[in-house]
Amino acid sequence: MAYDPDNIFAKILKGEIPCHKIYEDEDTLAFLDIMPRTEGHALVITKEKARDLFDIDPAALGRLMAVVQTLAPKIKQAVGADGVLIQQFNGAAAGQTVFHLHIHIVPIKQGVAPKPHAGEMADQAELAATAEKIRKAIA
Ligand code: AMP
Repeated sequence: MAYDPDNIFAKILKGEIPCHKIYEDEDTLAFLDIMPRTEGHALVITKEKARDLFDIDPAALGRLMAVVQTLAPKIKQAVGADGVLIQQFNGAAAGQTVFHLHIHIVPIKQGVAPKPHAGEMADQAELAATAEKIRKAIA
């Protein structure tokens, strides 16, 4: 299936809808998931027009993953987590709901089970406060 230039993450990239941004560079944007599985659940998205992992060249994928590798420990530290789950879904059958390549960073606290994937919407003020905490840890 072709890439849909009007998918929700493409709209975020174009600035047409807001997000709780935590990081941006030439190739990548990172922001908080609006239905977080845990506090600090973030998404790192490529600026390439790629539907999923199989729709991007390896060099661009490498740049995306390098950002994930850099951000994940900082997010973990910002929210006081003990570990980090990295998740990525390909195709509706596998649970993908937004068809623009993105990597989930889900900080995990020992003994606390993450909420279900794409479950309930978080409070906007809480997301804003978490994003601020993470931006400080990244700076
Ligand atoms: P998936 O495509 O299954 O990897 O998941 C897409 C993720 O995007 C889900 O975890 C949603 O909660 C999240 N999401 C959907 N719309 C937005 C949005 N406007 N801003 C931030 N996160 C979103």
